[in-house]
Formats: sequence, structure tokens, C-alpha cells
Amino acid sequence: MEERGNISIHTENIFPIIKKFLYSDHEIFLRELVSNAVDATQKMKRLSSIGEFTGDLGELKVKVEVDKEARTITISDNGIGMTAEEIKKYINQIAFSGATEFVERYKETGGDKDQIIGQFGLGFYSAFMVSDRVEIITKSYKDGTEPAHWTCDGSTEFAIAPAHKETRGTNVVLNVTEDSEEFLEPMRIRTILEKYCKFLPVAVEFEGEVINNPNPIWTKQPSELTDEDYKEFYKELYPMSEAPLFWIHLNVDYPFNLTGILYFPKLKNDFEVQRNKIQLYSRQVFITDEVKDVVPEFLMLLHGVIDSPDIPLNVSRSFLQADSSVKKINTYITKKVADKLNEIFKKDRTAFETNWDDISVFVKYGMLSDDKFYEKAKDFVLLQNTEGKYYTIEEYKALVQANQTDKNEQLVMLYTSDAEKQHAFVEAAQSRSYDVLKLDTVIDSHFIGMLEQKLEKTTLKRVDSETVNKLIERDETKESVLNDTEKEELKGVYEQAIDNKNMMVEVAPMSPDDAPVVITLPEFMRRMKDMSRAGGGGMMFMGDMPDTYNVTINANHPLNQRVLKAEEKSKMARQAFDLALLSQNMLSGAALTNFVKRSFEIMTNE
Ligand code: ADP
Repeated sequence: MEERGNISIHTENIFPIIKKFLYSDHEIFLRELVSNAVDATQKMKRLSSIGEFTGDLGELKVKVEVDKEARTITISDNGIGMTAEEIKKYINQIAFSGATEFVERYKETGGDKDQIIGQFGLGFYSAFMVSDRVEIITKSYKDGTEPAHWTCDGSTEFAIAPAHKETRGTNVVLNVTEDSEEFLEPMRIRTILEKYCKFLPVAVEFEGEVINNPNPIWTKQPSELTDEDYKEFYKELYPMSEAPLFWIHLNVDYPFNLTGILYFPKLKNDFEVQRNKIQLYSRQVFITDEVKDVVPEFLMLLHGVIDSPDIPLNVSRSFLQADSSVKKINTYITKKVADKLNEIFKKDRTAFETNWDDISVFVKYGMLSDDKFYEKAKDFVLLQNTEGKYYTIEEYKALVQANQTDKNEQLVMLYTSDAEKQHAFVEAAQSRSYDVLKLDTVIDSHFIGMLEQKLEKTTLKRVDSETVNKLIERDETKESVLNDTEKEELKGVYEQAIDNKNMMVEVAPMSPDDAPVVITLPEFMRRMKDMSRAGGGGMMFMGDMPDTYNVTINANHPLNQRVLKAEEKSKMARQAFDLALLSQNMLSGAALTNFVKRSFEIMTNE
């Protein structure tokens, strides 16, 4: 009764090749076989629902068993099963065609691994990556069909014989090879199942317990779900993490099919952020957490799941980048995220502001990297000032327009990159009723550049880039108490006292209430150096140059009039200069020691 035959294939033995080329991913055999088993049970469900099967469905499930002694792994299901004819058709011909194609391509490409690896889902035949003999014992759901037993030892020969099997469904038995012994460890199998099968739509049983959640919430309608459901699911995905800020439920069926939930995490812990990646599924089968190309780069820090049967999963990276549905998915996700943020901004501004510190990185990075996102986000991106108040760009423009427009009709937005260190400058600006923004994160220097490019007639200036009277230039000229000769003399005194060619001394009339000495690093100078440090703009040499500061001596400050009349002019000038350095955290080492000594001396002699 046994039938023997040859699988039609031109290659003697394809399995060594399969083994060799799928080496790094051996564990996926389990994903493939469990997926087949799940498909078989899903087909059963469908047949029943359309009335093609009227018998008892029973409790549909898939079971995985490891027998260390017999050296087997068995994957069994109570799905549709196969007749002997169907095995010949589906396993010998169809399943083999994938494997054959793989080998043909392997020959074509001269064995170039990078070109072919992962291009084929070898499905059933991936079983041969870990076993030298595979058996199928199966009984079709169709009445009156005989159960069948198929055996194949990894050559192109197979055998089919009648089998004894009472119940409907399929058992696939893998006889595990010595070099795949690791897969006979139950812990190893459990880990693989938890990775790939955690959300399969049919119960998967291992060691007496169901290891999956067959109804993950992304497959449900948002209207059926509460906030708690979303939070619980987040915990299920990332058990160690803090609750997410908010989430987006993705749900499209045209022009591509995609469901999923993206979470905005609290960006506190770098480690978690990197570990908790977005997971990509295809019909609830885990595929990868390398979502690059599918998810826009600026959203890679989001967490959650994406499930799409339309993502070509078995193709190489370069193909993925060029794939049009992947591009559409990318665009769709960007749009959904922008819409969601806009919705929260409009519905609950307070919540939006509370979460701003966590989401600003996404928003700013997104605006920088994607023009479409910029267009949407420009209406809800927030600017925070030193008083902790938040404004949209338009609101902020309206706030500062009257007081901060310079003589060239340029709106000047002032900012600090470090409110502590630049305190003296922030205070000086505030004394003129100027508003100061806090732009102090890594991404802000790029964000500032972008705002200047996008906003008309607007400049951003760091508060310590000029003396306060020059931050926002006006037409008025300030009268000087000192005449030109006195100014020259004062300049000389300071130059001698400072004795540093990187400190450019200038005497200028400012308000008597402004500081007597102010040290600034011009905005353009700092930006060029920043750029050079970041390795751009062909200005590498600037990074090595010492900072050249402007030292502005306030001609109208009473202290400077005293300096001119003092006996120890140089000592007083140095003292004033040191105090200016001190107010900017720039005094250290010997200069600081000398300053302290000199101060005690002055106090003693007063
Ligand atoms: P694919 O699943 O991509 O079609 P496979 O090589 O994994 O390719 O499987 C080939 C075919 O064998 C399937 O399409 C299915 O018809 C049949 N098959 C595989 N496993 C089972 C199973 N457990 N129960 C019923 N049929 C199966």
C-alpha cells in the first residue's frame, strides 16, 4: 500500500543549501510550522461559518510538544487536515516550489548570500533546517477520507502510507538533528513561541498551558475599548515600563491593510526606550522589531505594534525601501500621528502642555525631517519661555511683536540654552521687558535654524550673544557721558588689565542701569563653531579656534567713570572684568584664585 515517489526538483539535495543560508534564522522554522497549523484551524472556522462543514468544530487549537528522549518536536492542530492527494499537491509540489525557486536563485546569484537571504519564506520546508526526517500524520475534515502518513528524509524522495489517526487535523513531527539539539530544550522552544506566537489568533498550547493571547486589542474596534484596555495591553507588551502618555489606534483597509496601536512613551529612561521597540506583525504572526522603512525614522522611538499583511515580509531591505505600499504606510503613519497630536492639542491643551516635554522631541524631529509633518505640526508645536508658559508660534509672535521688532522690521525671538548659566543675560533682557524662550535640548539648535528658515522676517538670538542694548537694534543712539579721549583711555586700561587677544574690548554707551562690563560670544560665531563641531559646512577649522568674545565696557556706568579716576586703574578694571566672567561661570583656576585674593585685599583696605 505504500507509495513511493520522487519530488520533482533538479537539485540533488536542497536541504544543505537551505540550512546554510538560513543559518542565522533557524528558529523561524517554528514560526512557519505553527503559522501553518493556525491557518489550518482558521480555514476550518471559515468552512464552518459558510456552512461547508456542519460537524463539531471542537475547541480549535495548536499544540507544540518536545520529546527530548525521542528527539522530536511535534506541532499538531485540529484544522482541516490533508488527504494523501492534498499532501502530494500542497507539500510535494507547492511547498517545494518555494524551496526550488530558492535554490535556482541561489545558483543565479552565484551564492551571493546578501542577495537571496530572506527573500523566500520557505514555509513548510524550513522544518529541514533543524531536522533530517520530517513526518506528517494527517486526517482531512472531509468525510470518508483516509488518514495519511508522509515521510521525507531531506532528500528529494518521499513516502506516503496510510496512517492511523482518529481525529481531524495534522501532526508534523520533526526528528531533530544533532547540531540543532538546542531546540530540544523546552525553555528554548518557549522563548521562540513567546517571541513569534504571542498574539496568534488561535490558542497555542505548550507544556499544558496556552502561551498566547488570541485576541489582542489591535484587532478590535477602538469603540469597544477603554483607556484601561490600552494601558493593560501596553503592560503586556512591555511589562517593566511606566504607563504610556497616550496612544494611536491605527486602522485602515484601503489602499492597504493595516491595524495597530502606537504608544507615546515617557522618554525618561534611555534604556527602556531602546529596548521597547515597535513590533511588526503579519496577521498576528510576529515578524520583526526592525521597523525601519515602515515607520518614519522620527517615530522609531514610539512603542507598540503594527500588523499588516501588505508588508512584503520575506524580501530584502533594499526591496522594502522601494516598495510602494511600505511608502504609503510610512506616509499614513506620519499623518495619523500628526492628526492625533493636533486632536489632543485642540481637545485638551492642558494635557498637551503637561506632556510637552516628552513629546517635543518627536514633534521637533518630525518637523525637521518631514515637510508634510512640519505643515501640520507648525500649528501645535509649543515654545516655552523662562517663566514656564507655553505658546504656539503664532501666539508667541503676537506676544513679542510690539516690543521685539528691530529697526529692520525683523522680529527678534530671544532664547536661552541654559537659563542657569545665562541668568545674568536673561535678567538683563527681562529688565527691558523682553521675553526669553527656553530652547535647551539637543535638537533645539536645529529647530532654531528651521524656524528662521520657515518664518518670515524672524531671527532667533541667544540672550548672551550681544549686550542687552544691541539684542534688538533700534534707531536711537545713546549719548555717552565719556568723551572720545576718555573712551580711548578706558579701552586701553581694560585691554591691559585683561591681557588676552581673544577678548575684543569695546567701549559703548549703554544705560547706567546695565552691567558695567558684559562678555558676549557673537551668535554667528557660536553657530559656525557648533556647525563645525557637528562636522558640517566645510568649516572644520573653526572648531579648533579659540572662542573670540566681545567685551563691552559700558561708558555710562558710574563704575567706569571711577576706573578712569582711580589710582590703581588696572586693578579695578580687572576686578570688574573678573566679576563679569564670574557671572557667566567663566572664571576658574588661577584667575579665580587671584580674583578671590584681590577681593579680600580690596575689602581689607576699604
Ligand atoms: P504556504 O503556507 O506559504 O502556502 P507552506 O510550504 O508553509 O507554504 O505550506 C504549503 C501548503 O501545505 C499550505 O498552503 C497548506 O495547504 C498545506 N499545509 C501545510 N501545513 C498544513 C497543516 N498543518 N494543515 C493543513 N495543511 C497544511
